[in-house]
Amino acid sequence: MGKCVCIIAEFRHGAFRRVSYEVASEGKRLADALGVGLCAVAVGSGVADKAAELGRYAVDKVFAVDDPSLENYLAEAYVPVIASVLEGCDPVAVLLPASVDGKDLAARLSARLKAGLAQDCTQTVCEGGKIKAKRPIFAGKCYGWCEWADGALPIISCRPNVMDCLAPLEDKKAEVEKVQPALVQARSCVKSMELDTSGKVELTEAEIIVSGGRGMKGPENYTMLEDLAKVLGAAVGASRAAVDSGWRPHADQVGQTGKVVNPNLYVAVGISGAIQHLAGMGSSKFIVAINKDPEAPIFSKADYGVVEDLFNFVPLLTEEVKKLKSSCS
Ligand SMILES: Cc1cc2nc3c(=O)[nH]c(=O)nc-3n(C[C@H](O)[C@H](O)[C@H](O)COP(=O)(O)OP(=O)(O)OC[C@H]3O[C@@H](n4cnc5c(N)ncnc54)[C@H](O)[C@@H]3O)c2cc1C
Repeated sequence: MGKCVCIIAEFRHGAFRRVSYEVASEGKRLADALGVGLCAVAVGSGVADKAAELGRYAVDKVFAVDDPSLENYLAEAYVPVIASVLEGCDPVAVLLPASVDGKDLAARLSARLKAGLAQDCTQTVCEGGKIKAKRPIFAGKCYGWCEWADGALPIISCRPNVMDCLAPLEDKKAEVEKVQPALVQARSCVKSMELDTSGKVELTEAEIIVSGGRGMKGPENYTMLEDLAKVLGAAVGASRAAVDSGWRPHADQVGQTGKVVNPNLYVAVGISGAIQHLAGMGSSKFIVAINKDPEAPIFSKADYGVVEDLFNFVPLLTEEVKKLKSSCS
């Protein structure tokens, strides 16, 4: 194909992650604005059989690198393979998920390809033929726009759950070209992967998050939040204070040194709203804060605030949501 925007789709455990569809959708908007096509690179074990699915999100062509040794992300193995495919298809811009693996990959690719990198972007535009990308700076206190010098390849990692996903095109299948760049004999390997089988919703992909902080007073009280999360269909998060106290695993931490999340609804329970916490959830679409201190900084960010003792309020809220749900069903 001719000039194109290229996305790097994230394929894990036999399926594309939802963020790949968001990135494809943003790639399509950018490609249309630039008047070019949309292609994708997909790497993994068994990926070639699934690659045509990306057509549902407007991808015209997928370069699939399918090999059992590429089952799990390993920088040493993935970077040379993807760099070689990108050199072959000569894109005008590269978009990929700003996931943990994606951010690592983006930085390494930009160094190898001498490209310009903008991480964790929330929007891309094309103005007068020039690509611009918007990204949060100063721990999310403000946003900056990145531009690229003439001739520099933009590599843009896209924050999950922010960019609108296109409605899937039911019948469209992408053209798939299997490519076999030379594989690098990596010096390390992933021996095994322990998947979370609890059925918990992954925080960065959750539409609703109920998060608890130091105000929860102890790990045993999180069952209260889990009950609320269950009726809302939400994931449970935590502040660093709760994680540092050993009440929750680090995987649940939201914030500057935890996960960046963008759910439709974020319920902050017993969380004061420190700047480092806001950096991880401040761009949520609706924020509800439950805190007994009316001066807590979280209220300045919240769309709805409840000044109340959480131990009284959360069980009542859970009951009300249950009633509401059963009256609707
Ligand atoms: C470099 C660095 C990185 C950091 N990274 C992160 C990060 O990624 N994520 C993060 O969260 N923090 C991070 N922090 C820590 C951050 O500064 C705060 O210390 C932390 O967010 C506070 O957590 P908290 O709101 O749960 O606790 P607190 O600040 O102690 O707030 C507890 C809140 O609970 C309320 N409360 C207490 N009891 C009740 C009750 N019964 N009912 C209702 N409300 C009640 C209180 O009024 C208070 O507002 C970082 C700090 C540094 C220096």
